[in-house]
Amino acid sequence: MGRRKSKRQAPQKRKAIEPMDIQFTCPFCNHEKSCEVKMDKGRNTARISCRVCLEDYQTSVNVLSEPIDVYNDWIDACDAIN
Ligand SMILES: [Zn+2]
Repeated sequence: MGRRKSKRQAPQKRKAIEPMDIQFTCPFCNHEKSCEVKMDKGRNTARISCRVCLEDYQTSVNVLSEPIDVYNDWIDACDAIN
C-alpha cells in the first residue's frame, strides 16, 4: 500500500480581532474613554453614549462609517449647540 498520507493543510490562522478603538473622551464630562460607540449598520444608525454622565447621541451611518466618525459627528453636534 503506497498510499501517502496527504499532508493536512495547516489550519488557517485566525486573524486576531483587533479591538477597535471605540472608546472616546466624553465632550461633556471629559472622562477619558467613557464613551462607547455602538454601530447598528443593519439600521444605518449608530449610538454613542457616555457611561459616566449618560449623555448619548444617535446619528445615521453608512457602511463605511467608523466609530470615530460617529464620535466626530457628536462633537460637531455639540459645537453646533454651543
Ligand atoms: Zn460624559
